[in-house]
Amino acid sequence: MQRALNAYLPEEICAWAKEQGLPAFRGKQLFHYFHVERGLSVEKANVLPKAVRALTAAYPIRTAEAVKVLRSRDGSAKYLLRLEDGSIIETVFMPYADRNTLCVSSQVGCRMGCTFCASTKAPFGRSLQAEEILAQVYRVEEWEKANISRIVLMGIGEPMDNYEEVMRFIRLITAPEGKNLSQRHITLSTSGIVPGIRRLMGEDLAINLAISLHATSDERRQRTMPVAKRWSIDQILEACRDYFSYTGRRVSFEYALIQGENDRKEDLLWLCEHLAGPGFHINLIPLNEIDEYDGKAAETTAIRHFAKALEDGGVHVSVRQKRGADIDAACGQLRIMYEGRGRG
Ligand code: SAH
Repeated sequence: MQRALNAYLPEEICAWAKEQGLPAFRGKQLFHYFHVERGLSVEKANVLPKAVRALTAAYPIRTAEAVKVLRSRDGSAKYLLRLEDGSIIETVFMPYADRNTLCVSSQVGCRMGCTFCASTKAPFGRSLQAEEILAQVYRVEEWEKANISRIVLMGIGEPMDNYEEVMRFIRLITAPEGKNLSQRHITLSTSGIVPGIRRLMGEDLAINLAISLHATSDERRQRTMPVAKRWSIDQILEACRDYFSYTGRRVSFEYALIQGENDRKEDLLWLCEHLAGPGFHINLIPLNEIDEYDGKAAETTAIRHFAKALEDGGVHVSVRQKRGADIDAACGQLRIMYEGRGRG
């Protein structure tokens, strides 16, 4: 896909302007137009000379349109979005008292095949371009008339399976010349792609890394997460220890409690033994039950007890608040309804 003009980094768009024989500040103006004014049709940008507007005509500018919005009683809103080529993705807006979080998709579908996850049940389309991830943020800000202050890459897709475009998205959204979102307010979640974790270390980014752990032995993890056959828990932990010592950023582990599967005494002991200490954090998630997976979500009180036991074992722990249960807000669920189940 040809690089869209609204996904050029500040330095790239200035270089582009120079190549066109324009002064570099025309590049800065264009960046401002896309990322501060949120413009999408340069031909209407009257601040720019006609010659500049004409030069941009050969470049694509991509965005997303809303197909459907589901609003939860708790205020969160799930958007079903259509991209230029007709691909369908989801993005979830979650307002809190002190912040607004957006859960963005990084791919059209997902190749990871986790059995409990709705995202893998509809066919995989393609990876998203940076501007298509960005569009989720910009458009929802426009529709919700709100400032998005936190971004979690926890929607449809595996961010590490779309590494370059995800990094470009992060550079764009954190650019001081644009939205200028703090890197610390971005969380990238991965199913455990070890080379990606290692590569991320070298990016000099202060973003948060989250790992979908969900099991305490490779054998059990492989039952629900095919990616576990490729990289072991040991390899993941080693990469995460390195990540923490290199970046100083605490790594968080997502753990969806499933009755009888990963909430046993031995799981608790393993977690305390391996994840206690300053570098790691566990985020307990209530499993969102989907038709294709017969695991049962742990009870709320059981989750509380599990959290307490982890805490007593020296583990930093938090319990994720369930949001948007009444609108099927778990990733991928809405796309399935719209696109149908392609496999699973
Ligand atoms: N592919 C990335 C990011 C997207 S999934 C990853 O795997 O981390 C975001 C989080 O939601 C992951 O921790 C994932 O395991 C979790 N998740 C997926 N389906 C779920 C479900 N049905 N219930 C609870 N958590 C789920």
